[in-house]
Amino acid sequence: MKSYITTPIYYVNGSPHIGHAFTSVMADILKRNREALGYELMLSTGVDEHGQKNQEAAEDKGMSVTDYLDMRCTEFRNVFDKLDVTYDYFVRTSREGHKQAVAGMEQSIFDKDLIVKKNYTGIYCKGCEEFKKESDLTEDGQCALHPTMKVEQTDETNYFLKMEPFRERLLQHIADNPDWIQPEAFRNELTKMLSEPLDDLCISRPKARVTLGIELPFDQDFVTYVWFDALANYLTNIGWPDDAGYEAWWAECEHLIGKDILKPHGVYWPIMLMAAGLPLPKKLSVHSHWTGAGGVKMSKSIGNVVDPIEVIEKLGVDALRWYLARHMRADSDSQISVEFITQSYNTELGNKIGNLLSRAAKFSKARFDGKLPAPGALTAEDEAIRKAVVDATTGMGEWINLADIPARLQAIITVADEMNNYFAEQAPWDLIKNEETRERCQTVIYVTLDSLRVVMEALLQVIPGSAGKALKMLNAPEIATPWKPELDRLKGDSDLGEIETLFPRVQ
Ligand SMILES: [Zn+2]
Repeated sequence: MKSYITTPIYYVNGSPHIGHAFTSVMADILKRNREALGYELMLSTGVDEHGQKNQEAAEDKGMSVTDYLDMRCTEFRNVFDKLDVTYDYFVRTSREGHKQAVAGMEQSIFDKDLIVKKNYTGIYCKGCEEFKKESDLTEDGQCALHPTMKVEQTDETNYFLKMEPFRERLLQHIADNPDWIQPEAFRNELTKMLSEPLDDLCISRPKARVTLGIELPFDQDFVTYVWFDALANYLTNIGWPDDAGYEAWWAECEHLIGKDILKPHGVYWPIMLMAAGLPLPKKLSVHSHWTGAGGVKMSKSIGNVVDPIEVIEKLGVDALRWYLARHMRADSDSQISVEFITQSYNTELGNKIGNLLSRAAKFSKARFDGKLPAPGALTAEDEAIRKAVVDATTGMGEWINLADIPARLQAIITVADEMNNYFAEQAPWDLIKNEETRERCQTVIYVTLDSLRVVMEALLQVIPGSAGKALKMLNAPEIATPWKPELDRLKGDSDLGEIETLFPRVQ
């Protein structure tokens, strides 16, 4: 069983921001989920090194293009490492094999007479690196995504991919495969994009304007449009077209994307693949974006930009991973701020999970000679909490869709509340006082810590660093795949590890 998960490749004309961190962390969570289910994984993430904006960013910094790209590449890799994103393949579109494969794809489509050369007069947005229609522009005649960049009137000869011959087939594919694009809101949006005839897609840029790109194999005066080049990474990463193994990975490919790049992934890419005679990816999983508190767009001037590295330094990587996973919404934007992340870290991870673990484990070590006691007979209360824990974590042992992640974590927080109630009601600190209730105390401690062990095993997919530490404190046995919540894997009368505070409170 294979699973191939991709993130978009990120444009390197600036430093990594929360949006990059978000998609890559979600991809990593899905990867860990599939791995827990016993799949063989390939997770690709990386950078898009071509196009006019990168070229200009290098010029602005007064650096050679190669040095600039190397610098940004290192910067992105460092951030993904700090985020505990366990990518298997880091994409650089400057790689020779990628460039050759893209040129090969273009030549094969050109040979089918699906690429035409023609003059185009129209409006161009440098931010999008895309031609725009009048109807795409704001009232002020600017690009809605780049209102300050000023669109340009362009008169240029270029190469265009014919899109319209594939429109009906793509619509049919979407209708025949209702899960192909999720969530539903974006399936509807894509269907709407495809409801009217498609313009040809400009796939070249004259070298007179852009040099940083892959030369067209059939005309050396042009480089490849940056999106055509970038999208092809999903195939070139797995060795297309030469490696025999690529097909098995490609058949299981799931693209994670933000809603802002729905059109390139939902329209351009499938049509490029159809034109090249290749199968479509298995799935498109779309997410929405983050805004600042109160739904205000993040911006430097307002001062509400959440920098992933600052958050990691202040609160630790798992505070950020937890917040993103727990509070993301696939079909609508969600709010983020350092204050929100701190709050969620303190109350959910700290108060509900970390505190219970450290209280119960420290109590156990102090009262039972550094050990976890063996349980006696279980009461109805014990059985009830154990069942609730298994029910709440079962979802983490199943295939998770991107949009389902917050609900699975909500279930875990809900059961953490119930575990805290159980612990308070059973009051092991009272039970330990009398010899006749000592065995009952042992049972309560065992049930609590074994339940926490199940929760931590489930959370390995989301906050691997902290959950791994917790399992070590509990001296838990290795987990097997496929993982599912299983009770009583902690041995009674076994030594506990050193207990440290997992989520120290931060003001
Ligand atoms: Zn734009």
